[in-house]
Amino acid sequence: MLLIGGDLSGIQSYLFDLNHEHSRGAAKTLRARSFKIKMLCDMVLQRICRELSLPRQCVLMNAGGKFMLLAPHTQAVTDYLEMLKPETEQEFFGQFEGAISLNLDWQTPICFRDLMMNNFPDTLDRFIHNLEKAKLRKHSSYLLRDSAWQCKNFLINQQSYYSKLCTQCGKKTVESPEEICESCYQEIKLGEIIPKTQALHHPQGSS
Ligand SMILES: [Zn+2]
Repeated sequence: MLLIGGDLSGIQSYLFDLNHEHSRGAAKTLRARSFKIKMLCDMVLQRICRELSLPRQCVLMNAGGKFMLLAPHTQAVTDYLEMLKPETEQEFFGQFEGAISLNLDWQTPICFRDLMMNNFPDTLDRFIHNLEKAKLRKHSSYLLRDSAWQCKNFLINQQSYYSKLCTQCGKKTVESPEEICESCYQEIKLGEIIPKTQALHHPQGSS
């Protein structure tokens, strides 16, 4: 079998990366950002389970920005993960402008014995070690191809460039002073909606 790992990195710096002089809307932004990170990570996990037809019991762990998934070790599974990795990295790179990455790794083959109580600590060490290694190569399947940098992929968007900085994030440019950029606006709006939402609609109605 194979242990598929997912590890979000960059969460802390992304969550608190706000312009300190302007804390207006900071609580909403924080709420929106942590929600977005968690949702995107869960979506990737759900997608893998659905597309590999794995039951929910195969999710051995999903907490604190890390997941561990048990899958059969077949060519079809590794081919699928090879396809999924650059796609996921591209999505995260664009969404979070490189600040957050979801590092996927499947270099931990195991046999049933490795899951038994006595052996599991060693298995977990191996799994974490491989995730740490994957972290050192974050975004690489998207930014590198055949050992060459994919220069065009470093470019996130080509919006108009203004001379004023967004008062919320202090990163993106806006046309007039005291204005906030589109992504900060979206975050504040999302942060407003979340506490009023009673339930999240699941399209398949199963959870
Ligand atoms: Zn902004």
